[in-house]
Amino acid sequence: MKFFISIIATMVAVVFVAQTTYGAQSILLKPSYIVDVEQGALIEGQNILILDNKIIAIGSEEEISKNNDLSENNLKIIDMRGLTIMPGLIDAHSHILLHPYNETSWNGQVLKESRAERVARGVTHLKATLEAGFTSLRDLGSEGAGYADIGLRDALDKGVIEGPRLIVAGRAIVATGSYGPKGYDLSHDITLGAEAADGNDLIRVVRDQIGKGVDVVKVYADYRWGPKGEAKPTFSADEFKLIVDVAASSGRRVVAHAATDQGMRRAILAGVQSIEHGDMGTLDTFKLMKKHDVIYCPTVTVTEAISQYNGWKKGQDPDPRGVINKHDAVTSALKAGVTFCNGSDVGPYTHGDNLRELKLMHDYGLSIKKTLQAATMVGAELMNLQGEIGQVKVGYLADLIAVKGNPLQDLNSLNDIKFVMKDGHIYK
Ligand SMILES: [Zn+2]
Repeated sequence: MKFFISIIATMVAVVFVAQTTYGAQSILLKPSYIVDVEQGALIEGQNILILDNKIIAIGSEEEISKNNDLSENNLKIIDMRGLTIMPGLIDAHSHILLHPYNETSWNGQVLKESRAERVARGVTHLKATLEAGFTSLRDLGSEGAGYADIGLRDALDKGVIEGPRLIVAGRAIVATGSYGPKGYDLSHDITLGAEAADGNDLIRVVRDQIGKGVDVVKVYADYRWGPKGEAKPTFSADEFKLIVDVAASSGRRVVAHAATDQGMRRAILAGVQSIEHGDMGTLDTFKLMKKHDVIYCPTVTVTEAISQYNGWKKGQDPDPRGVINKHDAVTSALKAGVTFCNGSDVGPYTHGDNLRELKLMHDYGLSIKKTLQAATMVGAELMNLQGEIGQVKVGYLADLIAVKGNPLQDLNSLNDIKFVMKDGHIYK
């Protein structure tokens, strides 16, 4: 038996070597610099060899040529002198099926736009996002468009359309009575922006969403349904644990929208992977997040964008309450040592402008190194692709972008993306 295994192993090794030499197309990228996001360092004079969709070697041409035949006909060499390569960016909180609220309100999109229109918009959103250097998205809720996000993800995987890697949350789950659209005549049955479920019925709904193909389970821990329309917790602590348990059986993680302190605490103690928004979180609650290894997506951009739609002129007017709360939340999270992710809640503002979140997180107090890690390594963890994307390393998938200048010194260098590669394919 051992003999056969060793023969098979030898055959596999031979096939692998044959592939690296004579098989699919290899690409050698020759940039001036590579960003090591883990160390926060710029590395000079290294080339990257890509075979199919993976990085198979990094080093000087001499080093790489020792183990790889660089003279092959099917080797494409790309001279990228003057450019800096870094891992493709990740936005861990998007809504690919929404478009900016200053074009059409959320209610208008959910209630009046056809599924076909929303999907058509989604296709253009995905392309704009990829061209902006974002090679992965965690899309957190179709907002009334059913499971159209699953269809888009599958179309991307089949190469029918172009866009970032996508993991999706489907319809998302809310407690009965909490979510919108609201304020319509009660005799009408209104399409909700998410699926309502409570108590033991959550078991069925979580399983149903998983069965329909969601990659993550998105839950609203609170929503604006207090007596004055203010945010208040929705699911009880027990309901939350039930959701997380049922999702965990299938190997899936839960992500919680939570703006209230109590909503955050219930979600953290139940074992969610990340908290979205966290606007009213206290220092103690952020410390609890740190203790339970829960990742924080502050979604700064959406807060600022909506304040601006409501008339706030940034830099001229005093900060509105929402923006002040967000500053406080980010400051507390930093103090508590919580891990930040880059999740912008794009959709309510323009797809392709995702970079705004990185710049704002930095403005709100994150170092550039932490900001870049949030948009690469931490994002990879939330995509459940840690060790596969989020860094420029041998064995990783070839999701790479290139810019002029040094992103570790100036995030504005990411304004102009010169090159985009996803899964070994060059898109820009
Ligand atoms: Zn969102």
